[in-house]
Amino acid sequence: MADIINLLPDNIANQIAAGEVIQRPASAVKELLENAVDAGASEIQLIIKDAGKELVQVIDNGKGMSETDARMSFERHATSKIKTIEDLFHIRTMGFRGEALASIAAVSQVELKTRLRGTDLGSYIEIDNSAIRKQEPCQTAEGTSIAMKNLFFNVPARRNFLKSNAAEMRHIVDEFIRVSMAYPQVQFTLTNNTQQLFYLEKGSLKQRIIAILGQHYNARLVSVKETTDYMDVNGFVGKPETAKKTRGDQFFFVNNRFIKSPYLNHAIMNAFAEMIPADSYPLYVLFIDLDPEHIDINVHPTKQEIKFDDDKLMYAFVQSAVKHALAQFSITPTLDFELDPGIQHLDAVSKPFTEQQQAQSANSSLYKTFTQANQAHVIDNNSNLKHWKDLYDIGKSTPDTGIRATREEQPSAFGAGFESRFSASVIDERWQDTTIDHKVPVQVHLQYILSQIKSGFILIDQQSAHERILYERYQRALLDSPVPVQQSLFPQTLPLLPADAALISEMLPDLQVLGYDLEPFGNNTFVVRGTPADIQTGNEQASIEGLLEQFKHFSNDLKVNRREQLVRSMAHNNSIPAGKSLSTREMQNIIDELFACAMPTSSPGGKYTYISFKLSDIAKMFG
Ligand code: ADP
Ligand code: MG
Repeated sequence: MADIINLLPDNIANQIAAGEVIQRPASAVKELLENAVDAGASEIQLIIKDAGKELVQVIDNGKGMSETDARMSFERHATSKIKTIEDLFHIRTMGFRGEALASIAAVSQVELKTRLRGTDLGSYIEIDNSAIRKQEPCQTAEGTSIAMKNLFFNVPARRNFLKSNAAEMRHIVDEFIRVSMAYPQVQFTLTNNTQQLFYLEKGSLKQRIIAILGQHYNARLVSVKETTDYMDVNGFVGKPETAKKTRGDQFFFVNNRFIKSPYLNHAIMNAFAEMIPADSYPLYVLFIDLDPEHIDINVHPTKQEIKFDDDKLMYAFVQSAVKHALAQFSITPTLDFELDPGIQHLDAVSKPFTEQQQAQSANSSLYKTFTQANQAHVIDNNSNLKHWKDLYDIGKSTPDTGIRATREEQPSAFGAGFESRFSASVIDERWQDTTIDHKVPVQVHLQYILSQIKSGFILIDQQSAHERILYERYQRALLDSPVPVQQSLFPQTLPLLPADAALISEMLPDLQVLGYDLEPFGNNTFVVRGTPADIQTGNEQASIEGLLEQFKHFSNDLKVNRREQLVRSMAHNNSIPAGKSLSTREMQNIIDELFACAMPTSSPGGKYTYISFKLSDIAKMFG
């Protein structure tokens, strides 16, 4: 006779529901960052205390909320992002369920400050345990700041389930990276207990990847880009040599949403097959964009799986896009210095993958729009071979007995032996044959220097090479051998902006050692008495202004100290640009000095300084 069913009180129902969305501090990080992105912010700060157990705060400069919306936003199923069920199939925002803020408010203490763009006064709201404690107008910046404090203060059992700070922090950083990777045009920072862990400038995807995953990927990323009517894929994969023994630097995004897909991962691994050891993992950061109609994002908010309406097609497409990118990169810049030249003869690259796949996918719309030129196996050899024809006059070389600058024989960190062997060989070759025209280096397109070596030839990028030379020279200058100053006949005054003048003042002693003789003249003005002897005089002002500009450009890279920035700036600024015609003598100097460098293979910024071409590989290319 006894009735035993009763309705759960709201706050308990809310707490239970919240458990689905907010499982740990990192879940709140994801939701709050996504809201900031959805609000159109261009700058987003994430502030963490005690691995998020004490505080997760996100401050954005997005569109903000009105007073009513601010209150409404914490209601369950309150969202501005969909209105009808139809909207669900066209959704482009990260959120749409209207559950995140309600969930956060159910399990923590929240302080919200927000000001709608273009209005004067903001709103402040304090909530805990789903109840509004305070609401009042306030002064605050345009945009929104949400602070989630003391997560699970009212659900001790869940609080006890949280892991160590290190583990929770790792989850937070993962979520931060997944969101910030997808929005390189937005500036993100992450601060933990007052220590800034990330400062990500606005920039290109490539810059973002390098800023997040490290400078070692610079010059080691291969661009992936395919476009069809059905879907686009773009992003980067790491060159095979960057594959790691541990999984990790692998990111897949569908319509900018991070997803985990063992299936698509497999497609990429397949594209890399035979290029990397079986138990290693290549970097990838790939974005697939397609009409939301073709995917079901209506899966659980904390799940990262996704359903496509045509899985097989996705697989084939992703695999082919990656293969195409890898194949292109192994052909242009023809035989890459860092790449095992055998790669392009592997089936994985050279065989048209469509052989097996075409039949099964022949009817799909994707393949109809997938133009011939986009397919993995079609590579326009003619354009790549143009240079080769131009170089035909250079003549036949001696048999392949000389040095090789290829990967197999290269010590991993270029030992002294390698450099001297190499430079000796280059020099020998040239000096023995100076009378023979065709052994003299040749400038190609006013940009590269072609120099014959015994095993083939090398193509030197004149600017990168000169940058490397100057960089090492300036580093030595700072250590013990100052760059000689060329005194100006007519000292010039150099008026600067106050900020620039302050910069120059700070750097004066270093600049002196590097060959700039400057003297403060008051009022943000300097007198230029001399410039480095090895740069052309006549335009001291432009030289210093260029240097300043370059320096500010490098200042964006937080990992490099000021002196290093200065040296890099000077090296870049004073290097011979592409487009400058060089005499034989100048080219010879560059070659000699480059191979006398400690690190001749790359510019200080990580670009290759030269690429080598072996006769044996060239012979292979001719079939
Ligand atoms: P959803 O994102 O699924 O809509 P949320 O609970 O995350 O649900 O947010 C509810 C609503 O609150 C959003 O639809 C949006 O209108 C508003 N909102 C949340 N965060 C912000 C923010 N940072 N800036 C502007 N509006 C926001
Ligand atoms: Mg949301």
